[in-house]
Amino acid sequence: GGVIGILGGGQLGRMLSLAAARMGLDVVIFNPKIDSCAARVSADEIIAEYDDVDALKEFAQKCDVVTFEFENIPAASLDVIEAAGTPVYPRSNALGCSQDRLKEKEFLNSIDINPAPFARIDGPEDILPALEKLGGKGVLKARREGYDGKGQARLDLSSDPIAAWEKIGKVPAVLEAFISFEREISVLVARSRDGQIALYDTPENDHAGGILKSSTLPANVSEQTKEVAGDLGRKLAQSLDYVGVLALELFVLKDGSLLANEFAPRVHNTGHWTEDACLLGQFEQHIRAVCGWPLGPTQRFVDIRMDNLLGDSDIALWETRAKDGEAPRIYAKRGGGEGRKLGHSNKVWR
Ligand code: ATP
Ligand code: MG
Ligand code: MG
Repeated sequence: GGVIGILGGGQLGRMLSLAAARMGLDVVIFNPKIDSCAARVSADEIIAEYDDVDALKEFAQKCDVVTFEFENIPAASLDVIEAAGTPVYPRSNALGCSQDRLKEKEFLNSIDINPAPFARIDGPEDILPALEKLGGKGVLKARREGYDGKGQARLDLSSDPIAAWEKIGKVPAVLEAFISFEREISVLVARSRDGQIALYDTPENDHAGGILKSSTLPANVSEQTKEVAGDLGRKLAQSLDYVGVLALELFVLKDGSLLANEFAPRVHNTGHWTEDACLLGQFEQHIRAVCGWPLGPTQRFVDIRMDNLLGDSDIALWETRAKDGEAPRIYAKRGGGEGRKLGHSNKVWR
């Protein structure tokens, strides 16, 4: 037995809760909003803001170990929970690094995992000079709080830098060179409390409008590219002394070389296929790692594709997909919204 606390109430928290339940563990969700899709499948919940110190202490008392499913939790909140005597995995270093794109890129550089060339942007006047240095085409990204392509603006030398600055909300940013990649892949790596590492196979990921559309296995890249990618994931997890599942998003260039896009210190949308193609999916694997269990097998048994179900229009297709032999998974979020991640569907090829 045992009680796991999860900060965040979205679909990742929901799927972590379901995995924990299968392992005989109870979950307490900590989330600011009532009726979160994660709390509806967990044993207990605390509804409070992420920086509410008293609520965090109460949460710590209820839990044997705490993890998170959402990247924009203040890193200081993890410290409050730890100070109250409950361990938190992954540790706050990984969270603090990944939630600021500038820190993240500087860290990746420091461990020789090359990100796309980038420049720090503190105001609209920084944009054009940086864009010229970066080759004339770029993506301006808010340093904090972006996801699903939000807080980003694509630009070239004919763009209005003021408009781009306004589009991202006039906040500290980074400008990245636009990368004409051949494809995108991600590395899904798990690391246990005692430093054991397990890698899932590397999915190939298709995005549209900055939001993940599908992940396909096997990826259409060479074994060598997969090996190099895996080594980068391993190095990242080791450098952070990481515990849990982590995803590293990579661009594959025409010559097969790799550039890092970003990493996520949590279970990841590009890993949703693992639940149906492996004995042990990423959610169960993450719970094992944070609880101090040994990691489980990551071998992939089938070729598989995961499609995201975005918005009510995609969700409406679940029955067609079910008839086609797919496994649609619906998150039961309250309130739809065009383009919102409301479910996903796994389909075995062979
Ligand atoms: P999430 O956290 O949901 O993955 P995000 O909002 O952090 O998304 P990014 O991962 O930075 O967004 O970018 C989303 C997608 O936009 C990438 O997967 C890629 O397809 C495209 N993209 C991002 N940066 C670049 C770039 N420098 N050059 C070309 N395409 C890019
Ligand atoms: Mg991101
Ligand atoms: Mg991304």
